[in-house]
Amino acid sequence: RRQVSRPMPLDINQVVCGLEKMLRRIIPETIEFATSLCESPLMVLADVSQLEQVLMNLVTNARDAMPSGGPLRIETGMTEVDESFVRQHGFGVPGPYVYLRVVDTGEGMSREVMERIFDPFFTTKQVGKGTGLGLSVSYGIVRQHRGGIVVESEQGGGSVFTVYLPRTERMP
Ligand code: ADP
Ligand code: MG
Repeated sequence: RRQVSRPMPLDINQVVCGLEKMLRRIIPETIEFATSLCESPLMVLADVSQLEQVLMNLVTNARDAMPSGGPLRIETGMTEVDESFVRQHGFGVPGPYVYLRVVDTGEGMSREVMERIFDPFFTTKQVGKGTGLGLSVSYGIVRQHRGGIVVESEQGGGSVFTVYLPRTERMP
C-alpha cells in the first residue's frame, strides 16, 4: 500500500499547531505536554497528512513509554547540516534543514531494542496494543521526503526522536 503523496510548501510549526488539540486528547492528564516551537516559519516541501502521521506516531509512542506520566515536549527548529552530520547519521546533504523533535521522559530503550525499532512489525507492546508499524511507516515517509530520523535513548532515561527534513524557501 502506497499513499498518494502531495508535497506542498508548508510550515512544520503549523503542522504541530494543527494537530495539538487532537494530541492533547490522546495524552492522559498525568503527562505534562508542552510545545516549544521555533519563532520563524519552518518551510518544508511535504505532504501534510503524511507529516501528521509521523508526528502522531512519535507522540503515541512517547505516551506509551510514559505509563507513570511526566514531561513530554515537542520542539521545532532549524539547523545547518554539515559533512560530519551526514557521515555520522548516514542521511542528508550539507545544507539547511528543519527539525521536529519529540522528547519524552519515559522508559527509554535498550540498545537491542533500539536496533530494531524501524523494522516492520517489531513491537515490544502487548498483543493488540501495538502493530509495530508506526516507526517503519514513519521512517519510509521521512526518507521519501529526503530526510532522516535520529534516535537517542537510554533504558530508564527517556527518548528523543528527531525528524530532519530539508528546508525549502517560501513559495516564490
Ligand atoms: P508500536 O508502537 O506499534 O509498538 P512502533 O514502530 O511505533 O510500533 O515502535 C516500535 C517499538 O519501538 C515499540 O514497541 C517500542 O518498543 C519502541 N519505541 C518506540 N518509541 C519509543 C519511545 N518513545 N520510548 C520507548 N520505546 C519506544
Ligand atoms: Mg507506535
